[in-house]
Amino acid sequence: MQIFDNHGRPISYLRLAVTDRCNLRCFYCMPEEGVQFLPKPHLLTFEEMLRMAGILAELGITKIRITGGEPFVRRDLMHFLGKLVDISGVQEVSITTNGVLTKPHLKELKELGIRKINLSLDTLDRERFHEMTRRDELPKVLDTFYALLENDFKLKVNAVVMAGKNDQDILPLAALSKENEVSVRFIEEMPFNGSGINKEAFMSHTRILNALRTEYPEIQKVQDELHSTSSNYRIPDFKGLVGVIAAFSRTFCGSCNRIRVTPMGLLKTCLYDDGVLNLRDLLRGEPDDERVKAELLEVFQKRPKDGFEAEKKRSSLVSESMTTIGG
Ligand code: SAM
Ligand code: SF4
Repeated sequence: MQIFDNHGRPISYLRLAVTDRCNLRCFYCMPEEGVQFLPKPHLLTFEEMLRMAGILAELGITKIRITGGEPFVRRDLMHFLGKLVDISGVQEVSITTNGVLTKPHLKELKELGIRKINLSLDTLDRERFHEMTRRDELPKVLDTFYALLENDFKLKVNAVVMAGKNDQDILPLAALSKENEVSVRFIEEMPFNGSGINKEAFMSHTRILNALRTEYPEIQKVQDELHSTSSNYRIPDFKGLVGVIAAFSRTFCGSCNRIRVTPMGLLKTCLYDDGVLNLRDLLRGEPDDERVKAELLEVFQKRPKDGFEAEKKRSSLVSESMTTIGG
């Protein structure tokens, strides 16, 4: 079964945030202090997530990306993943991680068939990493980076780029794709940081691309995968790719196939909406999967056409931390 939304787009990809907690404090994502994490009863349990994933798989979700907060801070994650990969219809499970706690799990991830990892890494400079994430963990993240490559994971690096903060890291990060088969993707900052956007630091996808073009005038556009949010390029003689993600400019909504479930079980049919269905309460109160399905189908027919429409319909301004959504 494949469900299409009210704009004719297939819905086939779930981004599932398994926790709102994190071992880093990236300044563009969450405040340094005073973060109110959700009490445990408010979080979806792994059992609830598995039931939900099964229902969504019957509606045509084939890909699930695990995100957070930091997925690896949630206890028993590996056990959960072992069950998730076995759900009928789920063809691919992937993970987005900051890499601090990831390396010890690579062998088991490989055994589970989880091969696609997105690693968030905004700078290769240890001091700047410490400043941006408020934790001195770059060596562990780099260890994970190299271990992922050695173990043949399909690796993408995600870097949020902000003028005057880490724009000097664009070229060193892009250079990771010279000798390694890795896609390095530069993301526009969004206002999901706990307070609202830092306009002075905003760097658009065109500006990011210009910085790459200035250094590498021969950079070539490559064909993007279907539903890709990144616009991808190859620098001649580089093994990997570089890409830009217009996350704030929202240029890719027309082919968006993704939905999100937050750690507290809110369903989002657009990153910029403020939640369209409380799946947690629905799952807890409704033993009949068919009724849950019916509610899902209803909201899938009310998807905003793009992130601007979704933002307009919100009851509050975009400012919540990305840890409460999952990116
Ligand atoms: N902790 C994991 C990590 O950092 O990879 C997974 C969760 S994190 C919220 C998912 C992605 O969202 C990361 O790549 C991160 O860089 C990105 N992100 C967080 N806050 C953002 C913001 N305000 N604007 C753009 N991207 C953001
Ligand atoms: Fe944590 Fe990821 Fe947010 Fe950084 S971007 S604070 S690693 S959830």
